[in-house]
Amino acid sequence: MDDNIICIGCGAVLQSDNPEEAGYLPASRLKKAIESEDEGNDIYCQRCFRLRHYNEIMPVDADNDDFLALLNSLASKKALIVNVVDLFDFTNSLLSSLKRFVGDNEFILVGNKFDLFPLNSKQSKIKDWMRQEANRVGLFPKKIFLVSAKNKKNLTELISYLNKGSRDKDVYFVGMTNVGKSTLLNAIIDEMGDVKNLITTSRFPGTTLDKIEIPLENGHFLVDTPGIMTENQLATRLNAKELAVISPQKPLKPATYQLKPGNTLFLAGLGRIDFLKGNPASFTVYAARGLYIHRTKTENATEFYQRHVGELLNPPEEASELPELKGQELHTSYKSDLLFGGIGFVTVPADCLVKIYTPGKIGLGIRRALI
Ligand code: GDP
Repeated sequence: MDDNIICIGCGAVLQSDNPEEAGYLPASRLKKAIESEDEGNDIYCQRCFRLRHYNEIMPVDADNDDFLALLNSLASKKALIVNVVDLFDFTNSLLSSLKRFVGDNEFILVGNKFDLFPLNSKQSKIKDWMRQEANRVGLFPKKIFLVSAKNKKNLTELISYLNKGSRDKDVYFVGMTNVGKSTLLNAIIDEMGDVKNLITTSRFPGTTLDKIEIPLENGHFLVDTPGIMTENQLATRLNAKELAVISPQKPLKPATYQLKPGNTLFLAGLGRIDFLKGNPASFTVYAARGLYIHRTKTENATEFYQRHVGELLNPPEEASELPELKGQELHTSYKSDLLFGGIGFVTVPADCLVKIYTPGKIGLGIRRALI
């Protein structure tokens, strides 16, 4: 093809010659896709199309054969295992299935996207929370790092740890899609001054197609493994445009709302908080700056949502793309952060009864307030 058309999912040039290679789309579909691109539609290669529409890659705990095979091979090898997690979707990006495979190997956690945390965040508090969550699912990281792959923040300490750790073993990077694993590896490679731009990055999840081995000077390898997709990540459910709206680009700035019981806050059309019981209080939202927040009365909230989802409450562009909003009641015993994985969090005082919602309850959680 002369005018290289690119898959919006993985960035590969679309081709109809080899189904085994990146960017494959059968010739007939490619022709249709080109026509429909003229009408402004997004084009995906077959692999990305399937990922999006048929959810062929399932949560790692169940069916991700490739990944399980890789994990199995780890148990019998000497390896340093690095689980890269997204600090904004931490619970969902922690690979709990790793516990069966870590064995005697060294295991560390790298929390990425630290640049987004409000500037006054305490690293020790964030690490404590990560450790507790990891322990809760049976993972016992030897070290925890907080980094920003994008801004190359805190990389020196991590790289020196990897350099030491890789003297007698390979280093395996594992992680869910969209946690920034490719960006991090690129940043590490860049800082190490070795091979550059080996790995494509994109905002769309699932970009790394295959295991990639990056040779180190000491004869060992940094190994990038395929990102794992799960239905529990909002990122895998949204299109590139929607993802761009919810993905913060700058440190989160708090936006405070005074709420009384009987009030509801919408985080665009993707999150909802009903304040059920408690004293009037400040609710502080930490999310992407462009995300539309709307306060209304709880008694009108469901009707309001139905009327405005996809328009005022956007993303989602189409409510039918996502499961219905489902909620969970929570009581805050102390000042807490209500977690909306992939979107952000909302800090509320102690002693509030709230009900929080996301599509199909994806990414909901709570933790002791970090700030
Ligand atoms: P992968 O699927 O885990 O390989 O993730 P990518 O490296 O493709 O990154 C997914 C998205 O997260 C992209 O939109 C990146 O720009 C973004 N991203 C990656 N690292 C960071 C980071 O340190 N900070 C921020 N704010 N965004 C990041």
